[in-house]
Amino acid sequence: MKKIFVIVLVLCIALGAVSALAACEPEKQKIVWPTVTSDELYVKKVDNLPEDFIMGMDASSVPSLEKGGVKFYDFEGNETDVYKVLAMNGINYIRVRIWNDPFDADGNGYGGGNCDIANAIEIGKRATQYGMKLLANFHYSDFWADPAKQMVPKAWAGMSIEDKEAALYAYTKDCLNQLKAAGVDVGMVQVGNETNGAMCGETKWYRIAKLMSAGSRAVREVFPDALVGVHFANPEKVSNYKNYAFELSYGEVDYDVFISSYYPYWHGTLDNLSSLLSEIAEEYGKKVMVGETSYAYTPADTDFYGNTISDGGAVTKDYPYTVQGQANCMREIIDTVANKTTNGIGVVYWEGTWISAGGASYEENLAKWEANGSGWASSYASEYDPNDAGLYHGGCAVDNQAFFDASGHPIESLKVWSLVRGGNTVEIKPDAIEDTTIICDLNGELVLPTHVNAVMNDNSKQSIPVEWQNVDMDAMYNGGVAKYDIVGTAGGMTAHCYVSMVETNFLQDYSFEENSSVWVATPTGNMSELYNENKVTDSLTGNRHYHFWSAAKNSVEFTLEQEVSNLRAGAYKYAISIMGGDGGATEIYAYVKINGEIVAQESLELSGYGNWNTALIERFEYDGTSTLVVGIYVKCEGSGAGAWGKIDDALLNSVGD
Ligand code: CA
Repeated sequence: MKKIFVIVLVLCIALGAVSALAACEPEKQKIVWPTVTSDELYVKKVDNLPEDFIMGMDASSVPSLEKGGVKFYDFEGNETDVYKVLAMNGINYIRVRIWNDPFDADGNGYGGGNCDIANAIEIGKRATQYGMKLLANFHYSDFWADPAKQMVPKAWAGMSIEDKEAALYAYTKDCLNQLKAAGVDVGMVQVGNETNGAMCGETKWYRIAKLMSAGSRAVREVFPDALVGVHFANPEKVSNYKNYAFELSYGEVDYDVFISSYYPYWHGTLDNLSSLLSEIAEEYGKKVMVGETSYAYTPADTDFYGNTISDGGAVTKDYPYTVQGQANCMREIIDTVANKTTNGIGVVYWEGTWISAGGASYEENLAKWEANGSGWASSYASEYDPNDAGLYHGGCAVDNQAFFDASGHPIESLKVWSLVRGGNTVEIKPDAIEDTTIICDLNGELVLPTHVNAVMNDNSKQSIPVEWQNVDMDAMYNGGVAKYDIVGTAGGMTAHCYVSMVETNFLQDYSFEENSSVWVATPTGNMSELYNENKVTDSLTGNRHYHFWSAAKNSVEFTLEQEVSNLRAGAYKYAISIMGGDGGATEIYAYVKINGEIVAQESLELSGYGNWNTALIERFEYDGTSTLVVGIYVKCEGSGAGAWGKIDDALLNSVGD
């Protein structure tokens, strides 16, 4: 065989052109799979889908599951290689994460699939066998790299930037040569994973750019036809993305594809995603794609380890957590990248094959996670990642977002990757009932809705009657401040009404939902941004809050306050909440002002994204006639990145006369 290849090669060179050389390579046999059909799934066709549009699946933890006895099946119920099942249902790209050395000194795996290069080679060979390309995703870490952590591999710790550059280049080249030797069809290589301003332990952009360039150089040398991708998360932070794209250009990083994560729960709207990626594509002449996304097909957990997404929670939920909802969500993302985004080349789903390790109890699964690395982290990862894996190691947190159930059987929504190409029409019918949320004053009247929204399988909505079960209004009025999940039935399906019973709050627009002028913001610094913002993921409750940001040092200083009218004489308490970061030295406090004088105040701090701090002024007296103002004062030196924050949920309650 080798001899024949050499002869062909000589012939090709004799033809005298590189293109001729490529033409002489044996034509790969394209595998033709049976047509995918469905009697259950509604799928609206996505127009203008190029045949080579990337329909990707990150399926990195499959071998670790299989080591523990997990089996996968096709739609006919036959045990089948899961990579074949994916290929049969429209997936044409497999993504795999690669960690340098996800093992401790005794050879125990850190978990998350123990994804070293050997794992990538096994997956790459199986992907190639079924006609799919591989996206090799280098984290350049020994374990998970994401916006929260970019830890340097153990072997590279303490290296100078020059030595690290050389090590990264050599490592990338060695890994890619191994993939090449194994005959893996590598279509794209990612240099870094969710590198939001950090990679491989480095946080200065000129250093990150050097490291990315070293990785890119290795790709160009080993797989000159492969695409080089760079990958970021949080497209909802538009200015950050523009900055990343600028830094890549300024640092002269040689790449082809600007890849974004897009988790619909947290990452803003699809309109924002498409306009932002289009802008980057046009300004820098790059391809763009969604490199990670997912959506839940059920709120239920299947492996005895809690999931990142379940019922409730302050996340955007544009689709129900159903099989049809999962398919509809993917259809919209594919359509957005294919038709509304400049140079959009594909969508890759994240870990649609990561299911339960298969045990019948937590203990059984824990044994499998520890032995095979099939949970998100094993206890052995504690040494390398003490602050996260060290505290929370365990199973799979995304099994309810897979395309296979807990027993390895494919879910109907997997077919969406194929059916979007032609569309699939079924009868339009209700698929789920939209949740209802009510906030009720303990002294007010609780009225439950008579109708709720049914979400149809084509994602349209219809108002239908609901019957609530076992509602004890008296218990709710007498139960003090509390939250209730009232369950009902509508159209034969379960409906939820989430009720919060709250104390009488004497403030208007207390949660900033109405964007009302009762709240007065007064900047005393040279503020860049200070306004009421509509963004559910950054709100403590509801969809809106007050937002501030300013880049320059010492530019953040303002008050946000409300004058309270028609309040009876008595004793009251006042509370307000804030989250934020990059504040440097700060002076922040909630205050109560009577006739222009501060009579009570309580300090606050900024302690990072998602960490809400609440100031409570436990008691102050009010005479019923003076001018009463409550508010918050914020002053930040700024840490250089621009101090930012969110203010929400101001409460003014009676504490007696
Ligand atoms: Ca789980």
